[in-house]
Amino acid sequence: MADFLTIAELPRQEILRLLEATRKNVPVAEGRSPNRTALNGRVIANLFFEDSTRTRCSFETAVHRLGGQVFNLTPSGSSISKGESLVDTARNIECMGVAAIVVRCAVSGGAKMVADGVKCPVINAGDGRHEHPTQAILDVSTLMEEFGSVEGRTIAIVGDITNSRVARSATHALATLGAHVRLVGPPTLVSKAFERISQGSGTVTTMSNLDRALEGVDAVMMLRVQFERAAGGAISSDYRQMFGLTPDRVARLAPHVIILHPGPMNRGIEIDDGVADDPQRSRILRQVTHGVAARMAVLEDLVGV
Ligand code: ASP
Repeated sequence: MADFLTIAELPRQEILRLLEATRKNVPVAEGRSPNRTALNGRVIANLFFEDSTRTRCSFETAVHRLGGQVFNLTPSGSSISKGESLVDTARNIECMGVAAIVVRCAVSGGAKMVADGVKCPVINAGDGRHEHPTQAILDVSTLMEEFGSVEGRTIAIVGDITNSRVARSATHALATLGAHVRLVGPPTLVSKAFERISQGSGTVTTMSNLDRALEGVDAVMMLRVQFERAAGGAISSDYRQMFGLTPDRVARLAPHVIILHPGPMNRGIEIDDGVADDPQRSRILRQVTHGVAARMAVLEDLVGV
């Protein structure tokens, strides 16, 4: 791989290879196995033009765990606030000899623009509504830790599907690996176009009745309404009642069903407290650990020695 920009264009074998590397990295990510040396002497630039907690910190941690060094650039305190463009910023950073650039931005396709403008490898850490490919690896990795494989499993992804790069990347990865994906939410926030993602033995179905969509699932991934992408206007005051994962709904799930959320959660909107913190079913914090492992796998693959 020269860059890591999208899951949609990644063949099944490549996804499986990254998942296997992620699995092996989990003990390192947990601090139970010694750090590695694959990034010794390398400097990675984190260019975060949009806010982030988990993704930015886990990329940083992943670089440290691989023996490299990392610095962060965010709009406040940099020349981005003076109007310098994404690509100009990235070109200048590249000239500082970095081994790779990790980029997050509000523009769909922004990571590709950066990759076209520089020679070093670029990793997409979330570009607008488009993709969040390392999130997909960590989501599937968390599911595989639970179920061994996602093939034939049914996963409901619930909420603001249209504006979610997490949903788009996860759907591509899951369908490619043979899972059945149900995309659930208000019709204003679920695009039928997602059904075209179906491939191989995987299927993608859009639905607007959450209770029906939860019947027979193996996992439920809840999503935040992307208020920063103007999705607020597309939801009504009964959103929690219609699409929230409440204790009542969880009580009807089979005992093996697990719950995911990429974070940040809006508690009391898409997910209730007791569900988010459910010690039996919630894998939300486990996803964070897999996030470090997945980002290590991608960094090792692109720039490891
Ligand atoms: N953290 C995820 C993202 O950056 C999900 C979210 O923000 O709702 O897309």
